[in-house]
Amino acid sequence: MEMTPSHQYSEKLWQEALQHFPGGVNSPVRAFRGVGGTPFFTQRAKGSRLWDVDGNEYIDYVGSWGPMILGHAHPQVVRAVQEAARDGTSFGTPNPREIRLAQLVREAFPSMQKIRFVNSGTEATMSAIRLARGFTKRDKILKFEGCYHGHADALLVKAGSGGATFDVPDSAGVPADFARNTVTLPLNDFAALDTVNWREIACVIIEPVPANMGLILLKPGFLEKLRKLSRESGALLILDEVISGFRVARGGAQELFGIQADLTTLGKIIGGGLPVGAFGGRADIMDMLAPTGPVYQAGTLSGNPLAMAAGIATLEELSKSDVYGKLERRATNLGDEWKKVVKGHSVRLGSLFCTFFTDREVVDYASAKTSDTKRYAKFFHAMLERGVYLAPSQFEVGFLSLAHTETDIEETLRAAVEAVKTL
Ligand SMILES: *Cc1c(COP(=O)(O)O)cnc(C)c1O
Repeated sequence: MEMTPSHQYSEKLWQEALQHFPGGVNSPVRAFRGVGGTPFFTQRAKGSRLWDVDGNEYIDYVGSWGPMILGHAHPQVVRAVQEAARDGTSFGTPNPREIRLAQLVREAFPSMQKIRFVNSGTEATMSAIRLARGFTKRDKILKFEGCYHGHADALLVKAGSGGATFDVPDSAGVPADFARNTVTLPLNDFAALDTVNWREIACVIIEPVPANMGLILLKPGFLEKLRKLSRESGALLILDEVISGFRVARGGAQELFGIQADLTTLGKIIGGGLPVGAFGGRADIMDMLAPTGPVYQAGTLSGNPLAMAAGIATLEELSKSDVYGKLERRATNLGDEWKKVVKGHSVRLGSLFCTFFTDREVVDYASAKTSDTKRYAKFFHAMLERGVYLAPSQFEVGFLSLAHTETDIEETLRAAVEAVKTL
């Protein structure tokens, strides 16, 4: 007879965490507010699996929200971090690993003629926006409803991710004067793009693979139209590839769709599970940054040797032949069956996947919001009970890794068949 899994120790830690942290967490979606219940505390992770502090095992489709494309505790990454740590954890001087990681990123992203490493995706987008404003001497920026670009003030306007989960599209504490300079438009709305006064726009920022309100695909021609309008008007195009970079292809959406950004932001995968972000692009723009130019940006731990080491090991693994082919084949096996089993409106691009529980076609934030989030929550818990950990929110995506085996996928699909019956 199967034992009901115990969550005793997680429950105990949760009560303690609530004393220490607002809402018990250090990042909101971890609190399971989107699905209810108590989050589990992870003891360790390896490959495709997580083990919680009570010894329960899960097939993990969150992957630390994107970075773990090789799976958890990949031996090369662990070794690289250990070796780097022996040489000291931070120097505050240039170090050789920064150069190696820059080479690996630039090989994959030819549009990034120069690059700067930071410590998170939020820092990358925040700094890229400041740079775009400094370069163009314009204040206004354009973003899209439901796209998440981290939690900098100017970007927390109609943002996705936690904002979507908690239905607080605009954060308290963002001065109206800041938000006024952020123009937002619905995704995939070609006509709306023509209503913008492009000559006052410093930059348009977009997730080329929108993956923070669930997964939404851009209509063919949408990015091209943005590219054209921005180029004609002197606005910069910032492609936020914090999720899509090294995920949907080695060279991200830019490789997949054949489009060039003026500035690109990266994070997640390029840090191999350590805190890293990066922004980069045209050399004439990047040279506006301090110390060569007037746009200030700095970081005590930027280019951190441990983080660079984890990133290098990860990107070197991803440079091997047919890595993305293998990931795509695995993802196809999962995705094709998943669609039949889970139904709803299922979307997949490469190793990213998502199911909206709605009959509507999901093309933007408004249609994503038609999803039955209560049904998602039930499905989430039914899967979790069966040892499969999906994102604890309808408005996040699933991440498949190279460590997921055919057996993992079969197990996942068997769980999904059972879970759907409980809905
Ligand atoms: C995760 C994410 C960010 C923010 O990165 P953090 O490292 O969480 O600050 C920015 N943009 C996109 C598209 C993201 O998915």
